[in-house]
Amino acid sequence: MSSAVEPEPILRKSRVAKPPTGLSEAPALAAVAHPAENEEDQILGLSLRPKRFDEFVGQAQVVENLHVAIQAAKRRGEPLEHLLLAGPPGLGKTSMAHIMAHEMGAKITGTSGPAIGRAGDLIGVLTNLEQGDILFIDEIHRLSKVVEEFLYPAMENFEIDFVIDKGPYAKTIKFHLKHFTLIGATTRAGLLSNPLRSRFGMSYHLDFYKPEDLVRILQRSAQILNITLEPEAAQTIAERSRGTPRVANRLLRRVRDYAQVKTAGTLSKAVADAALVAQGVDVLGLDNLDRKVLKMIIDFYGGGPVGIEALAAALNEERDTIVDVVEPYLLSAGFLKRTARGRKTTRLAYQHLAQVKDQHLELFAASA
Ligand code: ADP
Repeated sequence: MSSAVEPEPILRKSRVAKPPTGLSEAPALAAVAHPAENEEDQILGLSLRPKRFDEFVGQAQVVENLHVAIQAAKRRGEPLEHLLLAGPPGLGKTSMAHIMAHEMGAKITGTSGPAIGRAGDLIGVLTNLEQGDILFIDEIHRLSKVVEEFLYPAMENFEIDFVIDKGPYAKTIKFHLKHFTLIGATTRAGLLSNPLRSRFGMSYHLDFYKPEDLVRILQRSAQILNITLEPEAAQTIAERSRGTPRVANRLLRRVRDYAQVKTAGTLSKAVADAALVAQGVDVLGLDNLDRKVLKMIIDFYGGGPVGIEALAAALNEERDTIVDVVEPYLLSAGFLKRTARGRKTTRLAYQHLAQVKDQHLELFAASA
């Protein structure tokens, strides 16, 4: 087992959903509160990413279970079982995988489902893994069927069969692999095939964070970024971060920019409020795209139900952006319901839009 946690050699940029398109009215504002990772997140995320379990805030039950699994594996002197981490983007799946590697003293190699075009792309990666090393596959639900089937024997028996040539000259080469651990992350656990899901010995779902956990994350980030953050400002940002640490960290950086330019630099509640409104983020943390989705369902479809394809087309948005990025929080916060016939808005959605319209006409105009 090697001890260094290496940077992600084949981690590609294609993370969850693409940034929202079709937002010509307010392009710079639309993605600020959305959990899909952008380039700035990638760069700053490295310094803000928790490196050990004691830095990882919240998700207590999952952390406890993983902690036990690590201790047990260490005592037996065995590698960890394969682990599946599910949950919306920005909740800490990648961070968790890196922490697991760190705790196990293992090397981690990262890639993502869409980055693995052919089964052959995986041979080099798999054969280079040492005993106990971790292979992290982000967006594992986006692996092609062929690649997925290629992974089965690797996960189960630590061997792979690779067929070279075609027709009568076809030859199968068998590679024996070291006992590695696969950590898969997915925003759409439901899309994973049963055979793949059943090959993971452990499977956990990460939930949206409570504001008090986000406050702790913000305080830690503020310390790392050398920002003086007043407690009430931390609370305001936490309450508007869609329960998502990545969004909280991003809003913190936007509020800091605002404070530097518009005030003497103090990060007070009033400054946070003003900065978030300027970013199009309303009192409950919804941004232009969220409000646009809700308004579209209400104005065009009488509150629903409306199918996801029709909704995405009407909004000129990617279906995956709506499903992976926008919808999970709207569902969990009770603005949206999913029925057999499509998405429906709730009474809360009507109330919220009316309230935002009363309080902040400028926000409402941006999402019209
Ligand atoms: P995911 O892989 O689920 O999309 P990441 O692990 O990339 O999410 O997390 C995004 C960022 O959010 C990290 O870089 C880190 O700064 C922050 N973060 C996520 N979860 C936590 C946590 N539990 N405690 C502290 N920071 C966190």
